[in-house]
Formats: sequence, C-alpha cells, structure tokens
Amino acid sequence: MTTTAGLTDAELDVVCSYIRMIADTLGLTEWEFRVEDLVPPDDDENPPWAHIDFVYGRRFATIGLCEDFRDLTDRRQRHVIVHELLHCHLELLMQEFKIALRGLGGGQEAPVDMAIALLCQQVEYLTDLMATRIAMLLPMIDWTTDAKETREADLHEPGTHALRGGEAAPEQDALPDVERC
Ligand SMILES: [Zn+2]
Repeated sequence: MTTTAGLTDAELDVVCSYIRMIADTLGLTEWEFRVEDLVPPDDDENPPWAHIDFVYGRRFATIGLCEDFRDLTDRRQRHVIVHELLHCHLELLMQEFKIALRGLGGGQEAPVDMAIALLCQQVEYLTDLMATRIAMLLPMIDWTTDAKETREADLHEPGTHALRGGEAAPEQDALPDVERC
C-alpha cells in the first residue's frame, strides 16, 4: 500500500525527517513544510520531480513530490530536496518584488507578466546552480529505519517535524496563495 508520492508510510516518515534535517542545515529553522503528491499538468511532457508552493506572508511551504520519487537516484533525490528548500530563501524577496512590479506597472499586465516571468526564470537558474553546489556538501537520504530513528532522535529544537500529506497546515486559510515560481 502506498500513500503520498508513491511512498509507504515508513518511507514518507523518512522523507519528512530528511526534509526537516536539510531545512535546519540550510538555516530554515523557522519554516514548516508539508509533503504532498506532485500533480503535474496533463500536457507537461517532462513533468518535474518536485515543486514547492508558498503561502504569502508565512514561513510555510508545501513540497510536492513525483510519484516515483523513491525510484530516483540518491543524488537526484538529494538535489531535488535541496533545490526546493533553497527556493525558500528567495521566496520572500520574490513575493515583495512581484507586488512592487504590479504596483509600478500601472495596470499594464503584459509587460509586468513578462518581467515576472524573466525574474522567475533567472531565480530558477540560480536556485538550481546553488542546489548543485550545496547538495554535494549534504548527506543523501538514508532509507533504512535505523537511520531514520537516529535522525529523529537528533532532531529537536529549533525545527519542528515536517508535516505529512493530509496534516493540517497551521492557520493559513485566510491567506492568499502565491503563484508558484
Ligand atoms: Zn525550482
């Protein structure tokens, strides 16, 4: 039986613990994360391995993982997680920048959309470049149960656990979603 992202319950626990550990290592101790299925667009011939969605004004994000995440190579799994987490460091800046661009655009949607698209593309390149370099310095996921228990024993303050799919996000209902980048 599988659950989120094609993972068993035990595997999902491992992924959530791993995300928490990597997030804390990257300085994202105040952030909380939820893991869910990645639902790629029907017309996407090259669906991504993962994506991350943010809630405006909150240090909370949902990480969607592809259904064959477990079958990716260890290095790819690590890169994917590091890449998505690094987006957090740029997201708050991105949110403010998008608001500023729309304000400066004076209602002209096309040039503002183009500017935002260019910004997102450059952030994507930068994020992936940083992920490639930084991931090499970080451990890969260890799928063994013993390692998971050891990791959880080491995980205490300041970070909290990553939420599994289906667990409620903290107090986000009144906040608008921010477009994914
Ligand atoms: Zn990205």
